[in-house]
Amino acid sequence: MNQYDVIIVGAGPGGIYSAWEMMRLDPSLKVAVFEKGHPLERRKCPIDGEKIKSCVNCKTCAIMSGFGGAGAFSDGKYNLTNDFGGTLYEYIGKKKAMELMEYVDQINTSHGGQGTKLYTTANTRFKKICLQNGLHLLDASVRHLGTDINYVVLKNLFAELENKVDFYFDTEVEHVSTDGSSYSLQTAAGTFTCRDCIISVGRSGSKWMETVCRDMDIATKSNRVDIGVRVELPAVVFSELTDELYESKIVYRTQNYEDLVRTFCMNPKGAVVAENTNGIVTVNGHSYENPDLQTNNTNFALLVAKHFTAPFKDSNGYGESIARLSNMLGGGIIVQRFGDLIRGRRSTQKRIDEGLVVPTLAASPGDLSLVLPKRIMDGLIEMIYALDKIAPGTASSDTLLYGVEVKFYNMEVSLDENLETAHKGLYIIGDGSGVTHSLSHASASGVYVARRIAAAAQ
Ligand SMILES: Cc1cc2nc3c(=O)[nH]c(=O)nc-3n(C[C@H](O)[C@H](O)[C@H](O)COP(=O)(O)OP(=O)(O)OC[C@H]3O[C@@H](n4cnc5c(N)ncnc54)[C@H](O)[C@@H]3O)c2cc1C
Repeated sequence: MNQYDVIIVGAGPGGIYSAWEMMRLDPSLKVAVFEKGHPLERRKCPIDGEKIKSCVNCKTCAIMSGFGGAGAFSDGKYNLTNDFGGTLYEYIGKKKAMELMEYVDQINTSHGGQGTKLYTTANTRFKKICLQNGLHLLDASVRHLGTDINYVVLKNLFAELENKVDFYFDTEVEHVSTDGSSYSLQTAAGTFTCRDCIISVGRSGSKWMETVCRDMDIATKSNRVDIGVRVELPAVVFSELTDELYESKIVYRTQNYEDLVRTFCMNPKGAVVAENTNGIVTVNGHSYENPDLQTNNTNFALLVAKHFTAPFKDSNGYGESIARLSNMLGGGIIVQRFGDLIRGRRSTQKRIDEGLVVPTLAASPGDLSLVLPKRIMDGLIEMIYALDKIAPGTASSDTLLYGVEVKFYNMEVSLDENLETAHKGLYIIGDGSGVTHSLSHASASGVYVARRIAAAAQ
């Protein structure tokens, strides 16, 4: 009963699209999915803004874990590009990676996402405007499902899968081992075995992934973390860009240090949210496709990439320490007006209340300069002034900065061109592999491995 052909660990996009493709290609395969979080309909963050205002450190974070993974309540922006979102193309080639992302887009648009808009940077005039102001707009097409439609797509995929695949929710996989021909997975519900094992545990499973790699002697490397803030401003300030492109990934090289600063995860008319990864509260954002649920603000992250060289190896530890500092000072997320930051003073509730931008997240007014290293802070300020040239109003005193936003990169696991480890039949996909950092790349990696396993089973 506890024996399967394939076990997938993690029901995020990587795991879901992998299961879906495997069932399409070979419904006779006996497949199980283990997920430490809840089924989709039971995922509910207790923060209601009234009784519970900040993170209460649930056993599993409903935002990060459960069916749909970290992507379930995301803005559902599927970026179809090799320019960012992961390095899947380094393993499988650019053409294949694009084909798979387009295939995932077809699945989404035939499971509730039909009618949603595909934006593209091709031929946009903003490329030139950005270049004229020292900014570089990256190429991409983006399908914006929105948090609401993303939920519908996930619900539809689950409805198709639930009778074909065994789902074990609220069941964390604690340990993986191999006897050379099969894999044993230990959980609180017992030990399960399989011939092929796909691990797709995302960012929330990053610590666990490290232990698996250590125990099974799988090589890893890690040297990057992105640190910054989430910017929130009136939607009209960015509307020219967001109306045409929805999300623009813009990169700036700072004059002082020649560091790269970039915009990330843009949410027109969206809301800023807190997220909890392994007990550390950081900031993120999302937005809805449904106009009734939209706000008057747009938010996006501004991130500075930090690469470390020997002897320092723990780039995520560095990011966590900065996030912990903000949690210590603010009890969670800190919010500061740009004008207060420039004037060298903390924001207070009174100053925020008097400002023109109404915050969409209840965060503690404070001073981000006490949290972020000067070099990072200087880069963020430079970029805000650079963005002000293409979207006047960005550098307004009332623009809100929430901190900190940290983009942790899972350590990169040593994999071959099949996304297989040195252990035959053990695949590591999605964000947990360090190869992908986005919905589309994670999903594409799931489809890729599913096809290989289904073909081998024929
Ligand atoms: C608020 C938010 C907004 C985002 N918005 C976007 C966006 O608009 N566009 C975009 O491209 N990306 C976005 N992202 C990132 C995107 O969600 C991830 O890149 C994507 O979900 C990665 O998919 P994954 O399957 O690799 O991992 P995940 O989605 O993280 O799923 C991994 C799953 O594995 C489970 N798990 C972990 N460890 C174990 C274990 N030991 N046993 C069992 N289960 C385990 C977790 O509970 C989780 O459900 C956003 C992320 C967040 C948090």
